[in-house]
Amino acid sequence: MRVLVVEDEPALRESLRSRLVATGAVVDVAADGEEGLHLGLEYPIDVAIIDLGLPRLPGLELIRRLRAGERRFPILVLTARDGWQEKVQGLEAGADDYVAKPFHFEEVLARLQALLRRSGGWASAMLRCGPVALDTRSQSLTVNELAVELTSFEYRILEYLMLRAGEVISKTDLTDHLYQEDAERDSNVIEVLMGRLRRKLDPDETLHPIETLRGRGYRLALPRAPC
Ligand code: CA
Repeated sequence: MRVLVVEDEPALRESLRSRLVATGAVVDVAADGEEGLHLGLEYPIDVAIIDLGLPRLPGLELIRRLRAGERRFPILVLTARDGWQEKVQGLEAGADDYVAKPFHFEEVLARLQALLRRSGGWASAMLRCGPVALDTRSQSLTVNELAVELTSFEYRILEYLMLRAGEVISKTDLTDHLYQEDAERDSNVIEVLMGRLRRKLDPDETLHPIETLRGRGYRLALPRAPC
């Protein structure tokens, strides 16, 4: 997932950034509302964390402008403790959820993951497509009830495809959402990883879980199971 973090407090911003990166997320950070608006409008963001008390452009105004600019990614706001008015204002401006400061990182992460699942049309943390079941809490995979080991990068690709099961995902989408800006972006690497993932999901080539659409990208082709 690609996360935008807009927080003016340097220690908190850095701690969110490094802990999110450690989970495998791609993270864009901004120290004020104007920079946050720029990144949110220009980059392919999956989910944003926005502090409401920001210099240059207040958090509420930032959220309104992102929504006015047709940016529909889920937004989690950081509010003061006991600031119920802030929470209401944040939701009214177009945010989807909130966490009061001080918070535990695990709570922020769980809320981000829930927002991402819901924006992909999934109700629970267990994503099921045909015989493929991905548990996003334990980051574990089973196929026909048998455990399959994945590397962390294979997991991230599969999670991204499953969250958007049925949609065509281009190689550019995959590199934009799964690689840090400075990391090597090589589409051959994506092809190699996709081949490896297919062999793990479908060793006897009966399932064909991932379609390749020439020149367009990949699609998780198994039907979503009702959850
Ligand atoms: Ca602040």
